[in-house]
Amino acid sequence: MNTIFKSAVFFIASGLLATFSAQTFADEVNVYSARKEALIKPLLNDFTQQTGIKVNLVTGKADALLKRLETEGINTPADLLITTDASRLYRAQIAGVLQPVKSEALTRIIPATYREPEGYWFGLSLRARPIFYVKGKIKPEQLSDYESLANPVFKNKICIRSSNNIYNQSLVASMIEVNGIETTEKWAKGLVANLARSPKGGDRDQIRAAAAGQCDIAIANTYYYAAMLSSKKQADRDAAGKLEIFWPNQTNRGTHVNISGAAVTKHAKNTVNAIKLIEFMASKTAQEWYANANHEYPVRSDVEVSEILKSWGKFKADSVNLSVLGLNNPKAVRLMDRAGWK
Ligand code: FE
Repeated sequence: MNTIFKSAVFFIASGLLATFSAQTFADEVNVYSARKEALIKPLLNDFTQQTGIKVNLVTGKADALLKRLETEGINTPADLLITTDASRLYRAQIAGVLQPVKSEALTRIIPATYREPEGYWFGLSLRARPIFYVKGKIKPEQLSDYESLANPVFKNKICIRSSNNIYNQSLVASMIEVNGIETTEKWAKGLVANLARSPKGGDRDQIRAAAAGQCDIAIANTYYYAAMLSSKKQADRDAAGKLEIFWPNQTNRGTHVNISGAAVTKHAKNTVNAIKLIEFMASKTAQEWYANANHEYPVRSDVEVSEILKSWGKFKADSVNLSVLGLNNPKAVRLMDRAGWK
C-alpha cells in the first residue's frame, strides 16, 4: 500500500468517524413538559433505550413554559411541548410557538377528536371530568347532566374548585359549544348558587370535602379519584371510598373529557426526533404504561384501561374536537367571572 493510498484511507475513515460522532451527538430531542417528571421520565428512558435518541427534559408549569417558548423565539432549545390540557396546547398554537407536523402513524392511531386537524398537537392520554356523589346522601337517579347541577335542589351540596383552573374552563368551554353563552352563563350562576363553600383547593380537595360532609357532590378529574382510591394514604383511600362516580350527559353529548398531549415547537431543531418521540408515546406499549402510571384512559382503543378504571364501567365521552376547548376558553373565563364563580 503506497503512502498516498494509506493516507487517503485514513482520511476517509476519520471523515466517517467524524460524521458518525457528530450524528450521535446530534441525536437528541429537547422536551418542555408541564407533565410531572415522575409521570413521563420512565417512558422517555425507554425511548432512549430503543432508539439511541437522548431526551433532555425540562419540567415546569404550562404557562411558564409557554412564556419561555415565546421569549426564546427562534433560539429555543425545545423541540417538543407536553401539556395536560387541550386548551393550553391551543394557546401555544395561537401564540405561534408550534408547527404542524404530518405523521401517518399518528393520524391513524389517534382519533380525530383528540388531535388538532392540521397536526399542531396530538392527544396522548385521556381524562374525564365526571360528577362524584357521596354514597347514601345522593342517589344516582337524582343526577343526570352537568346542566342539572344548577337545579336549586342541589343548593349547598356542590364542591368544585375555582374558575381560574383550566379544567373547569375547559368544561365550561365545552358547554358553551352546545348550549351557547347565554344559557351557559345562567347555568354557571345556578351552579355558583348551589356551592357548599367558596371554591378552594384542587380536585382531590373537592373529593375530601365531600367525604368530610361539607358537600354531597364533587367535580373532579378521573385520575385524581383513581389516585386516591389506590393511595398509600389510608385517609385518601377512605375519603374516595365514600364517593361514587357518575357519568353525566350519557343520553346526549357525553361526559366532558380532556387530554394530555404533545406538540412540535415552531423552531425545533430536531423535528424528526420530536415526531419519533410522539409516535413512540402513541405506541401500544407506551400507551399501556402511560395510561397506568396516572390512571388515564389511553387515546387508542386497542389498549386496555387499568383495573380501577375498568371497575367504573364504560361511558360515552363528549366527541367535540378538543380544539373547541381552546377556541372557547376566553369566552368561558369571562362568563365564569360574570357568574361570580370565584
Ligand atoms: Fe391534573
